[in-house]
Amino acid sequence: MPPPTEQLINELQSYGVRLLDPKAGHESRRGGAGPSDHKAITIDGMTVMVPVHTAPAFESPYLVEKPDAGGRSKISRDGVALASVSFPTRPRFYDLTTADGIPYWKIAVLHGRDVLATTVLQSCIRYQSRTKTCRFCAIGQSLAAGRTIERKTPEQLAEVAEAAVKLDGVTHMVMTTGTPPATDRGAAILVDSAAAVKAAVDLPIQGQCEPPDDNNWFERMKEAGIDALGMHLELVTPEVRLQIMPGKAQVSVERYFDAFAAAVPVFGRGQVSSYLLAGLGDTKELVLATCERLIELGVYPFVVPFVPISGTPLESHPAPAPAFMHEILQPLAAMLRGSGLCATDIKAGCGKCGACSALSTYERVVA
Ligand code: SF4
Repeated sequence: MPPPTEQLINELQSYGVRLLDPKAGHESRRGGAGPSDHKAITIDGMTVMVPVHTAPAFESPYLVEKPDAGGRSKISRDGVALASVSFPTRPRFYDLTTADGIPYWKIAVLHGRDVLATTVLQSCIRYQSRTKTCRFCAIGQSLAAGRTIERKTPEQLAEVAEAAVKLDGVTHMVMTTGTPPATDRGAAILVDSAAAVKAAVDLPIQGQCEPPDDNNWFERMKEAGIDALGMHLELVTPEVRLQIMPGKAQVSVERYFDAFAAAVPVFGRGQVSSYLLAGLGDTKELVLATCERLIELGVYPFVVPFVPISGTPLESHPAPAPAFMHEILQPLAAMLRGSGLCATDIKAGCGKCGACSALSTYERVVA
């Protein structure tokens, strides 16, 4: 019998999949900020990002057949068909180019099924140094490979967002940024970018940055049109933070919690979120205790399985076992349900998209 959808998604995100046709679906994400080396696949109505270019994916027991002309295919394990899957089609805005000759897909890309995502500043104070860089991050890879540009201007972002809404029906936008050498930690860049996008098109936006040194930035971000905010703890155990993200570990967990407490009244309960990367050393007990603390503050904890991205220092680190993720996501979904926080109520961003984790599928099951 095939496993329930949430557990199948869990397994796919841990093991990845082998594609009989590597060209299936549209271009996969390779490099860039945050999780990468995935392809978007839709299973049982949920669009999820599944690793296809990682070391575990090449050995995965899961195989996706060559899709038909409509993008439909089947996923199997050991020759046994488990589920029908489909691939989102290539966005039409990818064919456009700005007046100054930059392809739109170098400015923003489609994530999941209907999310426009951009890294406004594709460089980071922490990425320049081996002793400071987050060891899971690939923000410089796509830039080095010429798949993006370093600084997306507000005008470019507005132009692409307008087209992506009109041509491809995107429903929300994620704006993340590498951390610049400024005390606002990227908030000012997000303010300018969001204001330009909002002037061009009515599209809910999530901004993502480190906690700025001054909490007044939250008001400015909200006024500029940022509807939801992500400040990503990633990891919480002090030694694990120091080992995996030595630069970012200089910003304490307590500073994050101060910032969450200041941001929730501005953006609203459930509109502030935090990425937590499971599988890099934090125990499940600590992950769940941190989630409980976040939920009490009104912060949505988006727990995501670590993906070993090729070319990063952690490319050989194993992905978390599906059982480990299950033991976090199942109680977390129940905790969220009890608190009234819910992925579908988030106005924009990763928690709403949910494609990098099985969490929202677990939420659907406990609902
Ligand atoms: S969860 Fe966030 S990073 Fe993952 S596909 Fe969705 S928007 Fe992109």
